[in-house]
Amino acid sequence: MFDFHIHSILSDGELLPVEIARRMHVLGNTGCAITDHVDFSNIKEILTKLSEWKEERSSLEVEMLIGVEITHAPPEKIDRMVSIARNNGAEIIIVHGETLAEPVELGTNLAGVRNPEVDILAHPGLLTLEEAEIAKENGVFLEISTRKGHCLANGHVASVSKEVGCDVILNTDSHSPEDLVDSQTAFRILRGSGFGEREAKYILEETPSKLLRKLGFSPNHK
Ligand SMILES: [Zn+2]
Ligand SMILES: [Zn+2]
Repeated sequence: MFDFHIHSILSDGELLPVEIARRMHVLGNTGCAITDHVDFSNIKEILTKLSEWKEERSSLEVEMLIGVEITHAPPEKIDRMVSIARNNGAEIIIVHGETLAEPVELGTNLAGVRNPEVDILAHPGLLTLEEAEIAKENGVFLEISTRKGHCLANGHVASVSKEVGCDVILNTDSHSPEDLVDSQTAFRILRGSGFGEREAKYILEETPSKLLRKLGFSPNHK
């Protein structure tokens, strides 16, 4: 699988990016994105650090993108943070959505899907039909999360996305080594979220290529 949402020690994760790459490879996965938590206090610093080893990535055993997860930003500030992220080298931009597990400000989902520069609305909790429709229009992918707490609304996110027909991506939002999963586990979690076998297979095998193309990367990832 390709996991587009992982935290490293640059924010509150436990592993260095290179350790994440190694463990992803051992699990049989093809690639991942390092998307550490950012607000205005650290966004430039994180992207500077990640950009410094952009050239080193070619020696990794999996493909690795660098990006950010805009976390608990006031909804009206999200657009500005998205521009800062793009201008500082983010290859993927995630907005930390209205998960049931944290007191995320109401309006965050809407601000996330309204900006076509946002690539993924993570763990969107009690996502509304309107939000899903805007996400579809703007090409924002909606996340099914394997993470404890965030996964509580997976069934709801699956049913709203199916109704609207928007793109769904499965991510682990890993912070620790034990959070990483292989594609078999990912498949079972998608099935448990309410997707049929064919749908789950599509989300794991086709959607990552679609997202990589949107991000300007070759879908023929390893
Ligand atoms: Zn975190
Ligand atoms: Zn998150």
